[in-house]
Amino acid sequence: MSRRALIQYLELLKQSGIRHIYQVPDTNSEQQDPRQLLQSLSTKYADCNKCPLAAGRINLVYGEGNPFARAMLIGEAPGEKENLSGRPFVGAAGQLLDKMLAAINLRREDVYIANIVKCRPEGNRNPSQEERLACLPYLVEQIRIIRPRLLLVMGLVAAQTLFGNNETLAWNRSHRSEFMGIPAWSTYHPAALLRNPHWKRPAWEDLQDFQKAYESLNDA
Ligand code: SF4
Repeated sequence: MSRRALIQYLELLKQSGIRHIYQVPDTNSEQQDPRQLLQSLSTKYADCNKCPLAAGRINLVYGEGNPFARAMLIGEAPGEKENLSGRPFVGAAGQLLDKMLAAINLRREDVYIANIVKCRPEGNRNPSQEERLACLPYLVEQIRIIRPRLLLVMGLVAAQTLFGNNETLAWNRSHRSEFMGIPAWSTYHPAALLRNPHWKRPAWEDLQDFQKAYESLNDA
């Protein structure tokens, strides 16, 4: 991790009230299987009470996908169907996400999908800053385990949280960013595309940019 990325990460932890840092187990170790590690952390956090979102939780939506993924997709928060199933991006938004991935020659099994917060905000409201920062260490931990090469950040809440800004989604889409030293692309959340189909064209342009970067990993 670069010095700049490390400072960004530490600043986010500080804002979330974290004063002590523990070393995530070394996933390079032959004893550490990322799949098992993610599974055990998902179980460990199932009863988390770090923020008010715990009150509406039926299931923790930790994340799912390929633990060796080169790309990680990061959304905002679970919705009703996700809360019921414990899986990210199910229902209509999930089906659209599958189509978006297929359009750039990816399948859900190729990537890892997670959200900024792991419990559903009631009424699908935006998670508060306090809630986002309380949950962010879990996402940071996932990224440290999976070690993706690229991030696709979906929606304004996710972009503002990870990049620590209050800019618009248009601004975040047009500026190259990184989180923990990993290049990141911002685009629309699939649920927003369902509400506003005229955003599908700019979203497609974002995905094509992302696809180019993803496919260039093969050449690296
Ligand atoms: S949203 Fe995250 S921090 Fe808040 S209760 Fe759920 S798992 Fe814990």
